[in-house]
Amino acid sequence: MDDPAPDLSPDLSLRDVVAALESLYPLESAAEWDRVGLVTGDLDQPVRRVLFALDPTLAVIDEAREWGADLLVTHHPLLLRGVHSVATSSAKGASVTALVRAGVALWVGHTNADVADPGVSTVLADALGLDDQRPLSSEGSYAVGRVGRLAAPVSLAEFADVVAAVLPDTAGGIRVSGDPDGAVRTVAVMGGSGDDRFDDVRACGADVYVTADLRHHPVLEAREEARGGRPYLVDAGHWATESLWLQSGRERLLSALGETLGATRVETRVSTIRTEPWTFVVGANAARADRAAPDTGGVP
Ligand SMILES: [Zn+2]
Repeated sequence: MDDPAPDLSPDLSLRDVVAALESLYPLESAAEWDRVGLVTGDLDQPVRRVLFALDPTLAVIDEAREWGADLLVTHHPLLLRGVHSVATSSAKGASVTALVRAGVALWVGHTNADVADPGVSTVLADALGLDDQRPLSSEGSYAVGRVGRLAAPVSLAEFADVVAAVLPDTAGGIRVSGDPDGAVRTVAVMGGSGDDRFDDVRACGADVYVTADLRHHPVLEAREEARGGRPYLVDAGHWATESLWLQSGRERLLSALGETLGATRVETRVSTIRTEPWTFVVGANAARADRAAPDTGGVP
């Protein structure tokens, strides 16, 4: 029996893979304050394995190293603010040092992935089954967030169950504000932190807004504006609402590389590490028992 034909396709270089990533998620589409693109790595180094994760934590970097990844693609930046040391005495420094020592390149797609189509919010809107999608808002010339319609109206409680079923499980679960029996059909979504978009949510006529990192004062004020009615709010967690994008990014990278570089092969994988910082919740079950909105009439 003949030996199989040797694989003569050359390795991809980091330069090739970065070019593919930046054709999908152009750096110039990132917000001005953001820090995206290549953080560590040598453009001439070969890339055979690419790991996708939401955050470049030390555990994720360990996973990349153990799997033999040459490139780690994350949504959140490792270095957003200026640093003057990458010594291992700080976690950021230890992360950079670990990446460089292991020869793992790091590339970040953050607000440039938010505004992409498909990007973070479109992937979330698709997962929730929203039709007739349009942008929720804009950032310069780029669309952010999505608004769409469910095939049929459902109760807020049923909708929350859909959100829970579509998103990966988290320690914090999903928090909902509104009448559990209220009907919802038009849905606004914004992956990650979205409590600065309540004006847009009201303007678009959404019955419910799915986002994360909702804080007491903005939420309470939004609920007051709504007089207890629509738009209802769903805080589904920062990690959970953004993590669906990782699979989309992985698939889009593979198809971009396939189109431009033909037979060359690269292995890709989405990290299994949950990088949300919460570990567990207590005391939530009592409030869930009747799922009623709090009585705003005062403390009994
Ligand atoms: Zn985020």
